Amino acid sequence: MSPPYTSELAEALAPDLLRRFERYVRIDTQSADDRRQSPSTPGQLDLGRVLVEELAAAGLGDAALDGNGYVTATLPGNAGNGLVIGLIAHMDTSPDAPGAGVEPIVHREYDGGVIELPRQGTRLDPQTMPELATKVGHDIVTSSGDTLLGADDKAGVAEIVSAMAHLAAHPELPRPTLRVSFTPDEEIGEGATLFDIERFGALCAYTMDGSEIGEFTDETFSAQEVVITIHGVDVHPGYATGKLVSALRLAADIVAGLPSDRLTPDTTAGREGFIHVSRLTGSAATAEIRAIVRDFDEDRLAEHVALFDRTAREVMARAPRATLDFQVRRQYRNMREYIDPVPFVVEAAEAAISAEGVEPVRVPARGGTDGSRLSEMGLPTPNIFTGGHEYHSVREWASIQDMAAAAATVIRLAEIWTRPEWSERAAANH
Ligand SMILES: [Zn+2]
Repeated sequence: MSPPYTSELAEALAPDLLRRFERYVRIDTQSADDRRQSPSTPGQLDLGRVLVEELAAAGLGDAALDGNGYVTATLPGNAGNGLVIGLIAHMDTSPDAPGAGVEPIVHREYDGGVIELPRQGTRLDPQTMPELATKVGHDIVTSSGDTLLGADDKAGVAEIVSAMAHLAAHPELPRPTLRVSFTPDEEIGEGATLFDIERFGALCAYTMDGSEIGEFTDETFSAQEVVITIHGVDVHPGYATGKLVSALRLAADIVAGLPSDRLTPDTTAGREGFIHVSRLTGSAATAEIRAIVRDFDEDRLAEHVALFDRTAREVMARAPRATLDFQVRRQYRNMREYIDPVPFVVEAAEAAISAEGVEPVRVPARGGTDGSRLSEMGLPTPNIFTGGHEYHSVREWASIQDMAAAAATVIRLAEIWTRPEWSERAAANH
């Protein structure tokens, strides 16, 4: 094996993996916030059809795309232990950065300097990207600078397809039955909504949707969305003396009344939660504040929402003629409580990463994954690294060597689930 590849297996997988990845990122699969059907955008179906074809060509004969835009396929096991293990990645890309016309560029044998992209003066500076600084000698894939790359999560998709193709072509490698699903609309929080867990039929699953090599996640934020609607009293400003109550000004006061030196995404890290005001719109007549509230701990999450509510009511108390509507909606829960009872699911991921020669690192995710809701719905689904970075931006990049390590980890994971100790622990849990 030639470093920085982590194994001969990873090196063998890399060319096929890169070809698939380059094909997938060129298809515009950006999801859209105002979802009226599933998937929210037709490009996701285009990728879905390509994936069905490739999975079928690899030997997963039942590969199919359903009416809601979910791809599923099965690689039957050869170990005779009857276990079914799931592998999941999402096909859509984030609406937060341009996603059409992606032209991937491979920068061979990265020299550790600034990577200048041809469009929009986009630069990848290792000074501000500590992970990039560690990838000297790697082959780095980027966009051309004016779009996202789509490694989130087409790196995960390509890793799963490459691993399935390799396993199908190498029947001597032991594996349980593997069930694959590629989901739509994860980036708009709907990836799990129409996921048919019953039909999927797996004991547990793994999303390939993380980032830095070695990292895996069995803990995510718990998430609430807050939507505040304010109705003011609108009057022509020339006749407004003593009459006008501006909803927009009240909304601005509420936002200004929230802490700005703590409890924000930019002033917190690790296991701290936050209130993030994501949108403020309105006029004198009506205004709307949309915010996301996050924490790993349910009690602290409730405290953040209560602080928000109190702040809003204090501002509104000064304007008795205006009205306030404060709505809280649960988005997803920390997956930890659903995964804790089945620790061997996470231990298998750790063992697979170790078997690839990589140090496993457990990181709480400051966000959600498809696995957050799938775990809550009854399918324990921790998350594994993909090798991609700087998601949702035009600076998004991925290391081919790290992606190959992720694909190899899937193959190691399959082998681990054929070991008798794992079948026994799974059986004991049922
Ligand atoms: Zn993702």
